[in-house]
Amino acid sequence: MQTLARPVRDWLWMVLLGVGTAATVLFTLGLLSEAVVFPLMGGLSVLCWALGPRLHDIRPRRPWWLLSAAGFFFLTGVVVRGLLADRPYPLAQLGDAFSVCGFGFFIAAMLTFLNRWGMDRRALLDGLIVCIGAAIASTLLFVLPATAIAGRPLLVSVLAGLYPLLDVVVVLLGVNLAFTTAVRQPAFVLLGGMMVLIFAGDLGYAVIGRGGDVNGPRLMTLPFLLAFTLGGAAPLHPSARALGRATPLPIQAWSPARMAVIGPAVAVPFLLEVLLNHQSPLARWILGVGGAAIVALLLVRASDAVQSHAAAQRRFEHQATHDPLTGLPNRRMLALMVERRLSESGPGDVWMFYLDLDGFKLVNDSWGHPVGDRLITEVGGRLRHALPAQATVARVGGDEFVIVQRCTEPEAMAAARRIMECVERPLLLDGAEGATAEVVVGASMGIVRAERHDTAEALMRDADTAMYRAKEEGRNRWTVFDASMRDAVRERVEIEVALRAAVAQEQLSIEYQPIVDLTTDRPAGAEALVRWQHPVRGWIGPNMFIAVAEDANLISALGAWVLRESVRQLARWRAAGVVDEDFWMSVNVSPRQLGDAGFADRLAVTLAQAGVPAGNLVLEITESVMVEGGELTERLLRRLRDMGVRISVDDFGTGFSALGYLRRHPVTGVKIDQSFVGGLGGCVEDEEIVRAVVAMSSALGLSVVAEGVETTAQRDVLAALGVPLAQGWLWGRAVPPDIFAAAWAVPVPHW
Ligand code: C2E
Ligand code: MG
Ligand code: MG
Repeated sequence: MQTLARPVRDWLWMVLLGVGTAATVLFTLGLLSEAVVFPLMGGLSVLCWALGPRLHDIRPRRPWWLLSAAGFFFLTGVVVRGLLADRPYPLAQLGDAFSVCGFGFFIAAMLTFLNRWGMDRRALLDGLIVCIGAAIASTLLFVLPATAIAGRPLLVSVLAGLYPLLDVVVVLLGVNLAFTTAVRQPAFVLLGGMMVLIFAGDLGYAVIGRGGDVNGPRLMTLPFLLAFTLGGAAPLHPSARALGRATPLPIQAWSPARMAVIGPAVAVPFLLEVLLNHQSPLARWILGVGGAAIVALLLVRASDAVQSHAAAQRRFEHQATHDPLTGLPNRRMLALMVERRLSESGPGDVWMFYLDLDGFKLVNDSWGHPVGDRLITEVGGRLRHALPAQATVARVGGDEFVIVQRCTEPEAMAAARRIMECVERPLLLDGAEGATAEVVVGASMGIVRAERHDTAEALMRDADTAMYRAKEEGRNRWTVFDASMRDAVRERVEIEVALRAAVAQEQLSIEYQPIVDLTTDRPAGAEALVRWQHPVRGWIGPNMFIAVAEDANLISALGAWVLRESVRQLARWRAAGVVDEDFWMSVNVSPRQLGDAGFADRLAVTLAQAGVPAGNLVLEITESVMVEGGELTERLLRRLRDMGVRISVDDFGTGFSALGYLRRHPVTGVKIDQSFVGGLGGCVEDEEIVRAVVAMSSALGLSVVAEGVETTAQRDVLAALGVPLAQGWLWGRAVPPDIFAAAWAVPVPHW
């Protein structure tokens, strides 16, 4: 059936509705007899319930098969009743046997849906309240009068009373279904319409049943005819697929719709008490017991609503104060707990440990976020486990944890060791495609002891400051806060303010240091090094302010200016014949700069405007760019290489220098860090390192520059090791451009 063309499949339900409506109209006008119209529509619906679910691959099939069986029995009931209407008792009642079976299957179908959607406790209670109200009404209004009619066989009376009760069960399930799922799509509406019609039809029969009638006028079967039509169309509608899934309603205690259904049910006993004045003892019992049951259910329902409200409140509070990933308190909760601890007195002092994982970004980037999440969860769990219950362990940021504990100083130091150990222990993590890796991360930690008048906020700030100091000092260590760090922070803020002004007003200058060819002892290039003459503090070195510029987001503007200015300087020297045309300019670029969109485009414009070939520019990047940069940086470096710009790895050997990074990234050279050069001529180890770097570089086709050469001894060792280029105070410090030109201008023959 799924082979039917899509549009045909999607519109079949309309066709069935059309046929059903036409048949109903013809039947109403008397142009079609009951003996024709019921087998036709009933048969069609039974078929639809049996086969329709295949059309849109609706699952599960069971409720629809049950509906189909119910339809079959209802239909047979109608037909048999019609055929045997004039026969004597009990043959005339044979049709009812089929109808009762039909009810059985119908109720089973509804239960299957309910089971599928998950029974909601509150929907069940609401359904029961309505059910009892309906049961009282139907018993007093229909069942008792029908069974009280004298002179009928017992079976006829029982059947007359049974139908209203079966309808009460249908009402119960209908209310339950409506309150259990949020689905309100056409298929659901069609099924709902069917149930309302069946109920209305039965109500009609129940009313005439009070007077002892069993077969009413012919048009009383109209609701059933329409019920077949609507119900049959339901599985043909594409939205019927949603009926197979649980789509719970949002939590709502007493919605207006529920009140509209429950309200009348609650009123039933009171209204009937007033309306029916001649009550038998049985009727009074039914009213009393039924009314009490409704009140009891209402009480259960009300306390249920209050409890679930309280539970939702508790859940909400937990969510607002806890980190969803680790379940640990979050920053807000931590602040409250710290304030409480500070106000309590006890043995020892309050200590705070501010922990930031080192290398977390690397794990996240190379293994993906799910693995990163697992790492955080694992570390959180370990910390919670390793520390005493009275310690607070909180997660305050992506890879930041804070621990607060009241203890003595030796205990605090022991805790610090335990914390570091928790983090450093290798972690086994499952990555994508079942790969497992042993990951080792470290942590930088700031520790602070609360002073007497500290606030939670001040404590966090100081611990954070100490943590940053630990990071600056080389990561994977802890630092205990002292007041001088607060001054350093203040100073840093002052520098930031002044630097902002300096960058805006171009108060910075650039000095140039020669990079010398060891075979000729003459500069083959120069490195541009930025300088800042602070109006009050005097000369401030880049080691201090570049980091500030990076943190304060000033590095892009600063770096762009250095690049522009040094490229222009090179152009001026080239034009004036100070340098030859192979002479290059080395410019430091910070990782942040490389993250700027349009970096390459702006650089191309700078080079073009200055008329400097891209090959005469070397960008010095740090190893961290290659390690932490990711795919975007890799693409940018490739683009720069395509432009012809050279790329050198600065301070080579101090970072994560893995051979893999050098091979993967399109770099053209390395600068051996000064720390290795300093030991040359005395330290054999440094010599071996330089030898290894030279070997590796020549294998990879990279150029090599040695930095920080201060003595002739160092120069000689470098030359002997085969390092072609060097930079250092031996040849000269970085100087302003005019001094550089005066010292190093290419000798012109006619001078
Ligand atoms: P770097 O790129 O490794 O630069 C070399 C540093 O070593 C310079 O320090 C230089 O003056 C110093 N140096 C050169 N020869 C010798 C020597 O023989 N002995 C000793 N002890 N030192 C020597 P400086 O100018 O203080 O720059 C420090 C760092 O600041 C640079 O290290 C670089 O990473 C950064 N930097 C400088 N200018 C810029 C810039 O415009 N942008 C960026 N992003 N960073 C810059
Ligand atoms: Mg450099
Ligand atoms: Mg360097």
